[in-house]
Amino acid sequence: MKRVAIFPGSFDPITRGHESIIRRAIPLFEEIIVAIGVNAEKPGFFPVEQRKAWLEKVFEDEPTVTVDVYSGLTVDYCRNNNIGFILRGLRTSADFEFERSIGQINKQMHPGIDTVFLLTTPEHTALNSSIVRDIIRHGGDPSPFVPLGVEF
Ligand code: ADP
Repeated sequence: MKRVAIFPGSFDPITRGHESIIRRAIPLFEEIIVAIGVNAEKPGFFPVEQRKAWLEKVFEDEPTVTVDVYSGLTVDYCRNNNIGFILRGLRTSADFEFERSIGQINKQMHPGIDTVFLLTTPEHTALNSSIVRDIIRHGGDPSPFVPLGVEF
């Protein structure tokens, strides 16, 4: 089976933290699907099509990285698309506790799946999409926190 990973998240918007995890995972997998999870009850801040366009632009020179949008359970998406690995980033011990339960339940629901964690690099530990949204809402400059080429 091909070594394919999904990197699921909201990417609302993509940050340099997300970008770093994906770039570091490129040598590990034959293909990485960056998958924007959507939930009809939580529309998010930026439109999904905009979030997808940013991700596609950032990884336009990486042939093994593709971008998709999905709803429903991540394990179902994995089953339907023959994906064996879920990629996640770990920033803090709080991330670990959260990820541990999701990872263990996902494994129970779909034993063919393994979750692979990469530790965040120190400079990205404090970064998340909600801080970037706050900066934008209040007229600050988000450019140090988002990948090159992402413009608002
Ligand atoms: P979610 O909707 O699951 O919160 P996010 O878009 O916030 O999704 O994050 C998706 C993935 O990216 C998660 O595995 C998360 O741990 C990781 N991630 C988010 N921010 C960072 C960061 N600053 N550094 C490294 N990984 C990050």
